[in-house]
Amino acid sequence: MCGILGIIGYEDVSRDLIYGLNCIQHRGQDSAGIVTFQDSFKTMKGLGLVNDIFNMSHVERLKANCGLGHVRYSTMGTTEVLNAQPISVNYPFGLAMVHNGNVTNYSELRKAILEDSQSLLETSNDIEIILYTLASELEKKNIKYLTPSQLFEAVEITQSRLEGSYAALAIIANKGIVGFNDPRGIRPLVLGEKTVKKGKIYALVSESTCLDYLGFKKIKDLKAGECVFIDINLKVHSKILNHKPPAFCIFEYIYFAREDSVIFNRLVAKERENMGKLLAKQIKKLNLDADIVIDVPSSSYFFASALAEGIGIPMKRALTKNNFVGRSFILPNPKDREHAVCQKLNPIKEFINGKKVAVVDDSIVRGTTSKKITSLLREAGAEKVYFISASPPIKFPCVYGVDMSIKTELIASNGEDKVAEAIGADKVIYLDLDSLKEFYNKTGFCYACFDGKYPTMVPKTLLKEIEKDREKAKLSAN
Ligand code: SF4
Repeated sequence: MCGILGIIGYEDVSRDLIYGLNCIQHRGQDSAGIVTFQDSFKTMKGLGLVNDIFNMSHVERLKANCGLGHVRYSTMGTTEVLNAQPISVNYPFGLAMVHNGNVTNYSELRKAILEDSQSLLETSNDIEIILYTLASELEKKNIKYLTPSQLFEAVEITQSRLEGSYAALAIIANKGIVGFNDPRGIRPLVLGEKTVKKGKIYALVSESTCLDYLGFKKIKDLKAGECVFIDINLKVHSKILNHKPPAFCIFEYIYFAREDSVIFNRLVAKERENMGKLLAKQIKKLNLDADIVIDVPSSSYFFASALAEGIGIPMKRALTKNNFVGRSFILPNPKDREHAVCQKLNPIKEFINGKKVAVVDDSIVRGTTSKKITSLLREAGAEKVYFISASPPIKFPCVYGVDMSIKTELIASNGEDKVAEAIGADKVIYLDLDSLKEFYNKTGFCYACFDGKYPTMVPKTLLKEIEKDREKAKLSAN
């Protein structure tokens, strides 16, 4: 999971790119980068948070009327600056790109690029594959007179070669910005517009919250397989190209997206409340003897508040969060994750001591964080700890760009019965997968990490490859 942003306008967009990346920082904290184009590409990227890499003095350096930004959370390739995005090619024409997702036939395409065009890829990042595939299709057109329909043809062929999930943005030098996603629309991409003195300017971004901050109005979420091209004269062209049954990642609503984002007309905060209500229905039948419901800040608040209301048990904010420590889930190694939980969360003993606590978290992935939270609550005097996961048990690896890719690391992969014991809780309750599916429609979403039904073809060797890659990334992060 990463965050991507592209803006094209009449005047300098670099300030908005820096501010905008800050708004999607929750989608990746490993590295950040910006590329702008006006006569030539200007790129700046580095490891760490947006504010560690960019400050307002970079506005002048990156000044241009179109640009792309990226925040990275590495699920493919090591965490080093070489793998940070954006990446660009200058020959046979200028093309710069950012992406979010995971191309699952990466190895096969990498080999083909090496054999067919004798090109040696520089990174271990799948974006290079998307970039080269699109570049080689564009090269076959008369780039000087590139029309929107020729560009759509090139993107359509690119989409048909790539398997997996991706939302990608590219600057085509002197032509405009193009955004497209995979034929199942697994990853989000939103188009927005803002009216300035000279007319309308445009942004394509992972989440609508970024548009709100930058004063853009949302036009639409890109549908599965859709391509949007904003040309240099700021005319918008869009077309659905390769379209397959949609499989939008349900985890965007559960954890990734910010609560104030709206995806396909669904406000994320509201969706979390709805999941909290589903949990309440389930828990009512269990007659849970909890005294209080508490949330694990901050992504669990809406699940917990709706659950508490639904079961008639008071909710308290009894875990305080240090806002200056990042999201623990998206840290690349387990030691860092555990350390981050201790640094991030502090229980308010007075609220917890002697109480039977129902603690709600968005999910239980490896169990490291949940175990730490349970032990913090017990140390604070909790008489009982009921651990409630707002997502169903995660039993299968995600091959679409989320760091849940090693099956043996998933604590529920061999069944959820032993999870309570493993994390030290008195009871673990998961949101029921059938209720979730029933609520959201059985179709239209990817639930593969819960039920193992991958919406795309997953080669047998892929899981091993991803596993190897993640191990390598972990070693380099240590
Ligand atoms: Fe999202 Fe899970 Fe599907 Fe991955 S497997 S895309 S995390 S729903």
